[in-house]
Amino acid sequence: MSDPCIFCLIVAGNIPGTFVYRDEVVVAFRDITPRAPVHVLVVPAEHIESLATLDEGHREIGGRLLQAAAEVARIEGVAERGYRVVANTGPESGSEVAHLHLHVLAGRPMRGMG
Ligand code: 5GP
Ligand code: ZN
Repeated sequence: MSDPCIFCLIVAGNIPGTFVYRDEVVVAFRDITPRAPVHVLVVPAEHIESLATLDEGHREIGGRLLQAAAEVARIEGVAERGYRVVANTGPESGSEVAHLHLHVLAGRPMRGMG
């Protein structure tokens, strides 16, 4: 059997998470090592490995993830100031957890992408 996925364990409540938002498709919880005053991870409740493995059948989930990221920004009170949404994908991205997640980062000025 493969190792249990840490985000599946958090979604199932088998290890603790600080939840910010949850519906039947999407779960959002605070990153354990925040890199900004607001750092929330938005994940599908179902195990999907990464953005690269999203397929036709996941269209609704993809949209729901983005909507939930915007909802998290509203809940956290940063929607007006602005926020960054990141999906690290593949080896060169530095991704550590193989369960699709959007990082919602906010609460401090972000460096430009240039
Ligand atoms: P990645 O580098 O894969 O894009 O992001 C994985 C994120 O998951 C990292 O920012 C890391 O701090 C966070 N993380 C790793 N393990 C845990 C955990 O057990 N709980 C929470 N809440 N976040 C975690
Ligand atoms: Zn998982």
